[in-house]
Amino acid sequence: VTFVDLRSDTATRPTPGMREAIARAEVGDEQKREDPTVNELEQRVAALVGQEEAVFLPTATMANQIALRLLSEPGDELLADGWSHLFINELGGPAVHSGLAMRPLETVDGRFTAEQVREAVWDRRDTHRPITRLVSIENTNNSAGGRIWPVDEIAAIRDVCDELDLRLQLDGARLMNASVGSEVAAAEIGRHFDTVTLCLSKGLGCPLGALVAGSAERMAKARRLKHLFGGAMRQAGIVAAAGVYALDNHVALLADDHARARRLAEGWHAAGLAVVLDQVETNFVQLDVEPLGLGKFDAIAALKEKGVGVSNTVHPTKLRAVTHLDVSDEDIDWAIELAPEALAAHV
Ligand SMILES: *Cc1c(COP(=O)(O)O)cnc(C)c1O
Repeated sequence: VTFVDLRSDTATRPTPGMREAIARAEVGDEQKREDPTVNELEQRVAALVGQEEAVFLPTATMANQIALRLLSEPGDELLADGWSHLFINELGGPAVHSGLAMRPLETVDGRFTAEQVREAVWDRRDTHRPITRLVSIENTNNSAGGRIWPVDEIAAIRDVCDELDLRLQLDGARLMNASVGSEVAAAEIGRHFDTVTLCLSKGLGCPLGALVAGSAERMAKARRLKHLFGGAMRQAGIVAAAGVYALDNHVALLADDHARARRLAEGWHAAGLAVVLDQVETNFVQLDVEPLGLGKFDAIAALKEKGVGVSNTVHPTKLRAVTHLDVSDEDIDWAIELAPEALAAHV
């Protein structure tokens, strides 16, 4: 082992089996709905996430942006976790592409409550206020450390959305991690939402790809927006084949990623590093370097020098290690052994 890459689950490279599936893919013009592999992936993902239809896209960023555009009018207001991908990693896309006012909600473990949503909604009779239209949930929540939303909390937010005429979007880039981590079917989670985003290039191990899912009526509009946003492709079955392969072969392996994250967390914790074990629910481990008296970037550099790749978080003193398909049990052994040494040497 020379470098254990725990920076992100985007680091996965297609496996030999996936490359074979890509090579064998039947293809056609997806814009004409003639690519059988894209069609198959769309149908399977729709069923998987509890929605009527799904649309294949190059990225989950595009899936999120199309979802927001579908569900709102310019000048409407979007409520979400202030540290969500949508708010901090999509370049102000909700404002740029959909003309949305973005209002961050305070969160605990990446989650806000139904009551917070109710309190945040502006009175629609007040002609000074934007129309609060849209609520987005990120599950698992990245900034909080791969945390899972309990389904009953999602259902409570859905109820408030129905009552107050709000739409509910799921940034489920890591929905399958949430599903596997909580042993709740993805459809049981996804069915509460107006639209669902699923990313294929994170823990599912595809080189690229994502889907947005929703009602057939909304997905017809999503196909137009896909074209408008420049995401309509041609023989995209070449890539969709990786997605089909991942559904067949990689979903079940997420449980192994989660077990490795847990073992890493326990190993680091036992070595005296500041890891909160209860916070490890999926494939993320957050490490607080404050007790070491080290800055985040010094710690990242020290770990890198020893061959352990970790990444930054939005938290002022926390780093992130992420397990994925390309991280083995042996890699975890190394990271458990090397990280405490690397950090101790720099204190
Ligand atoms: C990675 C990620 C996205 C965007 O995915 P891309 O396919 O890289 O555009 C969206 N939301 C969350 C929570 C993510 O982690």
